Amino acid sequence: MKVVKTIDVIVVGAGSAGIGVAVVLKRMGINFQILEKEEIGASFKKWPEETQFISPSFTGNFFKMPDLNAITPETSPAFNLLTEHPTGEEYQEYLETVSEFYKLDINTGVTVETVHKKKGTFIVMTNKGEYHSQFLIWAAGEYQYPDRRAFKGSELCMHYSDISSFEEIKTDERIVIGAYESGCDAAINLCREGTSVTLLDRSNSFELVNSDSSYSLSPFTRDRLIEEDLNFEYKPESGVKEVRFDKGKYVAETVSNKQFISSHKPINCTGFTSSLSLIESLFETHEGYPILNNFDESTKTKNLFLVGPQVKHGNALFCFIYKYRQRFSIVANRIAVRNKIDNSIIKRVVQDYKDANFYLKDLACCDGECVC
Ligand SMILES: Cc1cc2nc3c(=O)[nH]c(=O)nc-3n(C[C@H](O)[C@H](O)[C@H](O)COP(=O)(O)OP(=O)(O)OC[C@H]3O[C@@H](n4cnc5c(N)ncnc54)[C@H](O)[C@@H]3O)c2cc1C
Repeated sequence: MKVVKTIDVIVVGAGSAGIGVAVVLKRMGINFQILEKEEIGASFKKWPEETQFISPSFTGNFFKMPDLNAITPETSPAFNLLTEHPTGEEYQEYLETVSEFYKLDINTGVTVETVHKKKGTFIVMTNKGEYHSQFLIWAAGEYQYPDRRAFKGSELCMHYSDISSFEEIKTDERIVIGAYESGCDAAINLCREGTSVTLLDRSNSFELVNSDSSYSLSPFTRDRLIEEDLNFEYKPESGVKEVRFDKGKYVAETVSNKQFISSHKPINCTGFTSSLSLIESLFETHEGYPILNNFDESTKTKNLFLVGPQVKHGNALFCFIYKYRQRFSIVANRIAVRNKIDNSIIKRVVQDYKDANFYLKDLACCDGECVC
């Protein structure tokens, strides 16, 4: 296949991670291109219509406390969208505004199919031909890669990511499997539509409280769960091992052999695999997460970097925007140094990110507990 283009850096994905890191590359004067299979912020646009951000937006940027959902130190979704908990569609608007403002080079309609490395060059095969680069930043996310094999019979269920609106799928009753953020979101929104929900939880998420937001339900979700008139039955310690379709009914059977029966497709909210499945041979892994060095670079493939919610160091999971945005300038810094960008430019940009608390290098800090 003929070579389409050779660029210094390819960024795969124009979601919050890809756009966020691209802004730093742009500010450092690095030659890059974003390859995006659909459109800017495509995953956010696919969220159910009623779903909102759980992390709040509030404009505190100029007091060095940037909006938790901002992807650059000088922008704020709260300022831009005038709401505290944006919907996916609203947040996509914010991402479009940021891309336009920084004049990012985004090639939409380009799906990355495979990547391999030959003699120091990444060969990126896409539906629009072949791209070559010295550096590759993977930012293709998780949402568009749902886990449809979490339990036997899960193909009989509707996955959370298949839902475009809870209003469209309202019924008299439904089983929701999984009670972390997406399961609770499905339960709350279905109840608001008048559906009575049975919420099956493998553990006991309602009781679990941890000061790291990656491991505990958010306050926004807890507030919504105690709303009046929510008609749901919560079943902790009810991990589903199988769903069957029997005599016109869906039967969800738990590991302790309890059965829950419904006339409607259960909703599978057990999570996502990851776009990393496309390039898994380029990473070493530990417990399902890619092993990264201190610059979020693959320990197996030099010059391959990861940004976004799959970044994990020790117990610190960078699955929220306010967490993983703190690694954008670390990745860009490393690429800039290797690409021989003028040191004074690198320093200035990194300092801006440091000043705004958009820079986290000391990963030891992430294991603490709040004192109260
Ligand atoms: C219901 C829900 C609520 C959430 N709420 C919050 C919240 O309140 N706060 C928060 O911080 N986080 C929240 N998150 C997590 C947040 O959505 C993710 O952190 C964020 O979307 C990840 O951004 P990303 O850029 O890595 O991935 P994505 O947003 O998924 O972007 C990846 C992009 O890559 C493109 N792509 C995928 N595969 C390819 C390919 N092969 N070739 C080319 N392009 C490709 C996609 O089209 C997409 O545009 C929530 C997630 C969900 C599901």
